[in-house]
Amino acid sequence: MMSATRISILEDSTEIRKLLKEALLAEGFEVKAYGLAQQFEGDVKAWNPDVCIVDLGLPDKDGLAILSHLANNFDTAIMVVSGRSTLSDKVAGLELGADDYITKPFEVTELVARIRALIRRKNVVGTSGDKNVFQFSGWTADLSKFLLTSERGKEQRLSASEVALLEIFLRRANRLITRDQIREELGDRGDEFSFDRAIDVRVSRLRTKLKDSPKNSKIIQTIYGAGYILISDVS
Ligand code: CA
Repeated sequence: MMSATRISILEDSTEIRKLLKEALLAEGFEVKAYGLAQQFEGDVKAWNPDVCIVDLGLPDKDGLAILSHLANNFDTAIMVVSGRSTLSDKVAGLELGADDYITKPFEVTELVARIRALIRRKNVVGTSGDKNVFQFSGWTADLSKFLLTSERGKEQRLSASEVALLEIFLRRANRLITRDQIREELGDRGDEFSFDRAIDVRVSRLRTKLKDSPKNSKIIQTIYGAGYILISDVS
């Protein structure tokens, strides 16, 4: 039997922390919850959770710095729970590597559904075909290890949602992929506008990691009004 999915919560409001913990325990997840960033970060390293739920407004550390640290160092999927609701805050969160973003106040059932979607996405990453290692444009992507390696052997970690997106591109190289197709494959539940924005942000993160110029992308090209196309031999 597979072990239970582990979820780590960082939320300084006692009330919301308790609400989240109880709801997720009731769903059968293993849950740990923290009010302070320092304890949370120490525990992520030791416990290796599948999903981290992170509140951005914290008393002891900047939430965005925590996000960035998590995305660059751990295999966890990241859900941001925040009182900051402007589009630029959402985009900043996604740019730093969050996989999803929910604004307070929220329905717990909605949060649980989105956590489940993240877990599904993370679990299928790198497992939908026989092949998980791809070579393209001088890069090697190992989807099951969330690793991108340059020609010179320099390794970079990819987030769960970056891997999911890259996998879609690699399995359909040199063909137009519409945003609707991406939306369908990722099983996203967010509204269309924020989803399109989230896809753009993730594509832009991928391009940065691939040293692909955003203004003149050679690998992942934008087809205006239609979608994206990954131009490369893929083996
Ligand atoms: Ca807070």
